[in-house]
Amino acid sequence: AAPVAFLGGTSRAAHLGIVVKGGGTLEALARARSVAFDKTGTLSRGEPELVRVDAAPGTDPDELLRLAASAEQHSSHVLAEGVIRAARRRGLALAEAVDGEELATHGVTATVEGRQIVVGKLQLVRETDPTAYPAELGAGQTAVSVAVGGRFAGNLVLADPLRPNAAATVQVLRDLGIRDVVVLTGDNRTTAVSLAADAGVEPSGVHAELLPQDKVRIVTAMPHRPVVMVGDGINDAPVLAAADVGIAMGARGATAASEAADVVITRDDIGKVVQAVEVGRHTYRVAL
Ligand code: ADP
Ligand code: MG
Repeated sequence: AAPVAFLGGTSRAAHLGIVVKGGGTLEALARARSVAFDKTGTLSRGEPELVRVDAAPGTDPDELLRLAASAEQHSSHVLAEGVIRAARRRGLALAEAVDGEELATHGVTATVEGRQIVVGKLQLVRETDPTAYPAELGAGQTAVSVAVGGRFAGNLVLADPLRPNAAATVQVLRDLGIRDVVVLTGDNRTTAVSLAADAGVEPSGVHAELLPQDKVRIVTAMPHRPVVMVGDGINDAPVLAAADVGIAMGARGATAASEAADVVITRDDIGKVVQAVEVGRHTYRVAL
C-alpha cells in the first residue's frame, strides 16, 4: 500500500463528500465482501412521520402526544425528533422535562409536570405497566409506546420510509461482488423484514430486536470479510468500531458514531457507500 495511492484515494473520496480516516481503510473497502446496514436513519430516511395516535382508554390523544414529546426532548433518537415534530405541528406546547435519561437504547424517561413519563419500545413500557399492548402496524411503520405516571397511556404510530435510492444501492453493491448484504436493527422484526424486502434484502439477512452489543456480535461473526458497517446513530458507535470498515452516515452529525467510524459520509446519501467502495477499488485496483 503505497502512501501515494492512499493520499490520492483519500482526496478523491473527500471531493465526493467521503472522509476517510484510517490508513488501511481504502484497501479494506476495496476488498469488502459483506455490507451491514443499520435500519433506522440509514436504510430509512430517519425522518419518521406520525401516522396515528392510539391512546389507551381514558387518555386524550393530544395529551399523550404532548407528554411523550416533552419527555423525548431528552433523547437524541430519530424517533424522538419525529414525535417532537408531530407535537409542534399539532400546535402542542412542550412542557419542561426534568431528570431525563436515555434507557438502554430502547427509549427515554423523564419527569413532566410531576409525572414520570416512559417512552420507547413496548417491552420497556411493560416494565412500568405489564398491561401495555402493541399497536397494529402497517408496512414500514413502527410504534412508540408511552407510560404516564406508571400507567400505559397508548402508542404513537410512525412511518419512516425507505430512502429512495436504497434498493439501487443494495443492487449495485451486489453487482460489485459483495457477497452478503444484511440489515441490523433494534426495531421489531416485522417492520424490519418489510423495509428490508423493499431494499432487496431477503428475510434471512435481517437481524432485528438487537441491542448494540448484539450488533457487534453479528458483525464480528460474519463469514465473508472484510465487513463494512453503515450506521448513523449514537447506538451504532460500538458496531462501527467493531466492523472492518465503519461508515457513519449523515449530516445529522451524531458525533459518537462519527468518532467511532473509519469513514464519514458528510452528505445524507446512502449511495455514497457505493462510491466509497469504488474509490477503494480504483485506488488499489482490486479485481474480483
Ligand atoms: P435502529 O437499530 O434501527 O437504528 P435503535 O436500536 O436505535 O434502532 O432503536 C431500537 C428501537 O428502540 C426503536 O425502533 C424504538 O422502538 C426504540 N427507541 C429507542 N429510542 C427511542 C426513543 N427516544 N423514543 C422512542 N422509541 C425509541
Ligand atoms: Mg439508527
